[in-house]
Amino acid sequence: MNSGEIVNIVVVGGGTAGWMTAAALVKLLPGRCSVRLVESEAIGIVGVGEATLPHIRAFNERLGIREADFMAWTRGTFKMGIEFRHWGAEGDSYIHPFGTFGPGSGEIDFHQYWLRMRHEGVPVPDLEQFSMGATIGRMNRFQLPVSDPRSIASTYGYAYQFDATLFAPYLRQLAEGLGAERTEGKVVAVNRNGESGDIESLTLESGEIIAGDLFVDCSGFVSLLIGKALDEPFQDWSHWLPCDRAMAMPCRTETALTPYTSAIAMKAGWRWRIPLQHRTGNGYVYSSSFISDDEARDAIVGAVEGEAIAEPRILKFRAGRRERSWVNNCVSVGLASGFLEPLESTSIYLIQQTITYLVELFPEREISPVDRDEFNRLIDMEYDRIRDFLILHYHATTRSGMEFWDYVRTMPVPDTLADKLELFRRRGRVVKYREGVFLDASWIAVYLGQGVVPEGHDLRADAPPSESIAKGMHQLRDQIRTAVERMPDHREHLDRYCPMAKVA
Ligand SMILES: Cc1cc2nc3c(=O)[nH]c(=O)nc-3n(C[C@H](O)[C@H](O)[C@H](O)COP(=O)(O)OP(=O)(O)OC[C@H]3O[C@@H](n4cnc5c(N)ncnc54)[C@H](O)[C@@H]3O)c2cc1C
Repeated sequence: MNSGEIVNIVVVGGGTAGWMTAAALVKLLPGRCSVRLVESEAIGIVGVGEATLPHIRAFNERLGIREADFMAWTRGTFKMGIEFRHWGAEGDSYIHPFGTFGPGSGEIDFHQYWLRMRHEGVPVPDLEQFSMGATIGRMNRFQLPVSDPRSIASTYGYAYQFDATLFAPYLRQLAEGLGAERTEGKVVAVNRNGESGDIESLTLESGEIIAGDLFVDCSGFVSLLIGKALDEPFQDWSHWLPCDRAMAMPCRTETALTPYTSAIAMKAGWRWRIPLQHRTGNGYVYSSSFISDDEARDAIVGAVEGEAIAEPRILKFRAGRRERSWVNNCVSVGLASGFLEPLESTSIYLIQQTITYLVELFPEREISPVDRDEFNRLIDMEYDRIRDFLILHYHATTRSGMEFWDYVRTMPVPDTLADKLELFRRRGRVVKYREGVFLDASWIAVYLGQGVVPEGHDLRADAPPSESIAKGMHQLRDQIRTAVERMPDHREHLDRYCPMAKVA
């Protein structure tokens, strides 16, 4: 029975996680909660996190955010997927696109026909050319997809690349407009009930005490509540994902304003390239066990494609997550809960999912352990799926002769990933997820992009005559090219749709 009581929520942290949480709670649970957010400008935010996944569009829509307005404010660009350069082997490049390969419908996955052609030695274009998303990216165009499922222009999705330092302020004005209350100050003590262990209040440096029913830890890597105060153990995944640092350095956008993020393999990790309207974000994600910070700094300085607009900045992290994301009356969101490197732009997605599950399982003042356990189960599932997907990128490679790559190529991987790889190697079959992140096409893009070629294919792909498959494929490739050629250039579209706004 719902009690109808108002739950008093205290959010600690005003980065992307804090303001996404505050905005979503006041918008989606009106009359059920009050939201007070405490943040310290002196501590500041992590200030990176510029590439997203298509799911963010649904989040923004639920919050009533107008796309063009949001993109103009955050100086955003469109993102059709991620280009992986030099991952499977030195010199190669593939795009993991948002959307499907082929027409996106049919009894069996399109790539099964493509595999059959390969097995029979029939020449067909690269798989990437059957993706609208990848083709739009390669041709540097953009146009919104259509909703008619019969159209090839309905087979792609898109996300955003935006200035991370402008996203939280954007959400802040929205959240405050809806009634969230902000307190500037540094939390210096977390006060717990001696019996239950629940958090009762926080003490600020000013001496002010802030009490609440539910506390949301969005304090970033410091993990002030769930990590420090509640001492929830951290599951360390660095043996599978050894990158533990990033050297970030933005530059002017002097080369193409590509509608995709690039992830370029380097000696001991990889570097990102994220073009925004006003600048390009760059950073070298590396493992400090394999190269020094000085070497990483030199590498990123040498690699950026435009005039640098800031000195290189180092960020330190560890791959993994808290054993439980919700403990007692404390829910952790964002970096406070865990971190997986930004190779597939998943952190903001994880924040969004955590908030979604919190809203779905939103507690009474008296928290039910059943809701909490279900929440933790869902979060574990999200993290574990992403973890396996990221490890795949490192493990499925022929890069060799570099200590870092020799390590990741030969390391034992989680059983869950080993099973998925085996399944794909036999007949190109992928584990099917009904929803969430990284559905079939994502796994197919990375497996095939990195050279994991199955021995066989789905038997049903043998039914049509070979010539008709090959002919249909060439026609489809041409249809995609023609449709994309008609689209406006990416920059042209941005200038018309969402030219960047001046931000105070
Ligand atoms: C190198 C790197 C690259 C990344 N790239 C991407 C990407 O491309 N895509 C993506 O989705 N994600 C990316 N991320 C992750 C992304 O940056 C974060 O998920 C996102 O910014 C959320 O951060 P946060 O709000 O959890 O923490 P933060 O931004 O660190 O915010 C923490 C907040 O807590 C406050 N705080 C801390 N201690 C106290 C205290 N004692 N009292 C009061 N307030 C306090 C701080 O002032 C701040 O407001 C990247 C992360 C890194 C490290």
